[in-house]
Amino acid sequence: MPDSSLSFVHEPAAQRVLFQPGGFSRMGEEADRLGLRRLLVLTTKGQARLGEAAADLLGERAVALYPGAVMHTPVEVTDDACALAADRKADGIVAIGGGSTVGLSKAIALRTDMQQIVLPTTYAGSEMTDLIGQTAHGEKKTERTRKVRQETVIYDVHLTMSLPASISALSGMNAIAHAMEAMYAPDGNPIVSLMAEEAVSVLNAALPAIIDAPASVEHRNRALYGAWLAGTCLGSVTMGLHHKLCHVLGGKFDLPHAEMHTVLLPYSLAFNAKAAGDAMERMGRAMGAHDPVSALRDLQARCGAPAGLHALGMPAEGIEDVVAQVAHADFPNPRAVEADPLRVMLWAAHAGNPPPDLL
Ligand code: NAD
Repeated sequence: MPDSSLSFVHEPAAQRVLFQPGGFSRMGEEADRLGLRRLLVLTTKGQARLGEAAADLLGERAVALYPGAVMHTPVEVTDDACALAADRKADGIVAIGGGSTVGLSKAIALRTDMQQIVLPTTYAGSEMTDLIGQTAHGEKKTERTRKVRQETVIYDVHLTMSLPASISALSGMNAIAHAMEAMYAPDGNPIVSLMAEEAVSVLNAALPAIIDAPASVEHRNRALYGAWLAGTCLGSVTMGLHHKLCHVLGGKFDLPHAEMHTVLLPYSLAFNAKAAGDAMERMGRAMGAHDPVSALRDLQARCGAPAGLHALGMPAEGIEDVVAQVAHADFPNPRAVEADPLRVMLWAAHAGNPPPDLL
């Protein structure tokens, strides 16, 4: 029950979301709805055949296929895709893929103002945010702007079936990280908290179920629903220490996105636990456990998480650099981030030891 000091701002993003198995076949209809006639279709190289199938389905509406999306949205790739869009006089984008493809779509929209239809194939959640990270000269910079908001998002579970169960589980842990940090965000509100709790609860059940039965459309559809909720949380409020660390670690050491989130999350929560009592209670409720940190460690193990940051290729010598960049930096977090406990936490996460008691 909310207390009497309740006070918040909630500004839902204006986006059309179709959550529909088989929604892939509705791309053309959605393009017509937006008045788009000349579409640029985006995928990664690995999902090029899916792009071809989309172009076939869109018929004359598809004027170009660019299967060149890569991690971290390098500006050179955006230059290339924009040149193709200009050459073919594209007036809109259809992006099919995970966070990398969704990121390329946003980067093109930022430059061209083209409208976007997005079909997510992982649980990263970027399609529900106004955030864009782009890499130029080896440095990744993130900004928040409405110009990258994606007009239409089609969630079709069938597009996620090809994601190997092990990768699905880690991608789902990435989604859980969005929802958990939303629970203690300074700009949170009751609706976001409800969505976050539902997201964690749904994903906590669906991810092990996908590991056990990878071909189950039902489990994957539930996970996709959880990912949508978690992405909405990510897009609605400001993230804390966990996302800050992942941003710095990803940029410095090029660590794989979902794996890094999975490894680090219990440590971030343990770090914040005593300063975020209400949020921890909510997380525990969502996971059906008294202690959400150990419940998360169990889930991590079920999902086949890598053993520690060292297993992802992070050099131990890099820890001091990360401490220097993150301690006392300007970002919201329930607990002040001081160098000493942060260092202890990162050494434990690097080795994969149990999260230390940091207070
Ligand atoms: P990804 O998009 O890089 O995909 C990983 C790999 O899986 C790719 O090779 C891709 O082709 C393949 N793949 C994707 N879906 C598949 C499917 N259904 N079947 C088979 N293969 C499939 O990974 P990701 O984790 O979705 O996204 C990570 C990127 O997204 C990072 O760069 C991260 O910074 C960004 N991101 C941005 C936001 C935001 O709000 N701006 C949010 C989350 C993530």
